[in-house]
Amino acid sequence: MTTDRIRSFLTERRPEGPCLIVDLDVVRENYQAFAHALPDTRIFYAVKANPAPEILKLLAELGSSFDTASVVEIELALAAGASADRISYGNTIKKERDIARAHELGVRLFAVDSIAEVDKIVRAAPGARVFCRVLTDGVGADWPLSRKFGCDPAMAIEILEYAHRNGLTAAGVSFHVGSQQRDTEAWDRALEMAAGVFRTLAERGIQLTLVNLGGGFPTRYLKDVPVVGAYGEAIFGALRRHFGNRLPETIIEPGRGMVGSAGVIKAEVVLVSRKSDEDPLRWVFLDIGKFGGLAETMDEAIRYPIRTPHDGGEVAPCVIAGPTCDSADVLYERDPYHLPLGLEIGDEILIESTGAYTTTYASVAFNGFAPLQSYVI
Ligand SMILES: *Cc1c(COP(=O)(O)O)cnc(C)c1O
Repeated sequence: MTTDRIRSFLTERRPEGPCLIVDLDVVRENYQAFAHALPDTRIFYAVKANPAPEILKLLAELGSSFDTASVVEIELALAAGASADRISYGNTIKKERDIARAHELGVRLFAVDSIAEVDKIVRAAPGARVFCRVLTDGVGADWPLSRKFGCDPAMAIEILEYAHRNGLTAAGVSFHVGSQQRDTEAWDRALEMAAGVFRTLAERGIQLTLVNLGGGFPTRYLKDVPVVGAYGEAIFGALRRHFGNRLPETIIEPGRGMVGSAGVIKAEVVLVSRKSDEDPLRWVFLDIGKFGGLAETMDEAIRYPIRTPHDGGEVAPCVIAGPTCDSADVLYERDPYHLPLGLEIGDEILIESTGAYTTTYASVAFNGFAPLQSYVI
């Protein structure tokens, strides 16, 4: 959504070139909506979604904790004012020296999904708390997370027992139901699995305490999505179903759901053309594409809402592409995008709900194009 504050900023400042503008008021509203929907759950903002210092500082002030994936992200969270006990190192793939550095900085909560990773933590962060990530199917997610992270529940049980035997605190289980998860029931299947891991380890004398519910909360793009409150209710219901009245400590790690709706990209139409006189499709080339920050249009997974100066006029299908000399730099072609016939070269357009996974996905200087500029207001 383009807020009045973003509109005024664009009118007054007239920034040159493609850029992202993030409205902190929307980030604050999103944080408060999560806190309200899941009042007994700690919020760990997934820093990777948008690590702008102003966003991290606001969230730190609001009381958020932070899910990080590297030493640099840990340092960003600390610089924003979060103490180390509000930071988790949630990447399951870490160099041992980075684990040691995180431990030196005071971080005590780490993700694992293999015995080899536990061994690194035993050596580099003795006594730390670990949670084991289990695989989920990602069904219902527009940006599913494949099999890269997590392990089978049976293996998670062995890993957590091994961690416990080696002097770590086996804290619990984590999962991620897939990003842009539009099915509120996805957490139910994952929590059933988590409860099974809790039970088996309890039988072995190990009491787990933590369930990390991950991210996956959606941003509204072109399709409607359930409101945060519906996710809160579904998750709370699932916790009661699978854990009874011995509810574990829970955390969520929203990334997209926290910042996606807070950002708008201003871009410009560079060329409108056709491939032949009979071509029914116009090709609309923008000054931003896959290498300029819109990487999540890969496989046309994420379809951003686009506003133009001609909205309300007659529309027709277009291919939308970026400005670089790489033929992969096409945003929407398989499923053409409807834009007004009045659209012209030089028009400024607004690509909405782009606050997450854009600035840091921009290439450094492919074809000489600068990385995506960002203004946080
Ligand atoms: C990326 C990531 C998140 C955030 O996911 P969203 O779908 O953006 O909410 C949360 N947790 C972990 C471990 C992640 O890797």
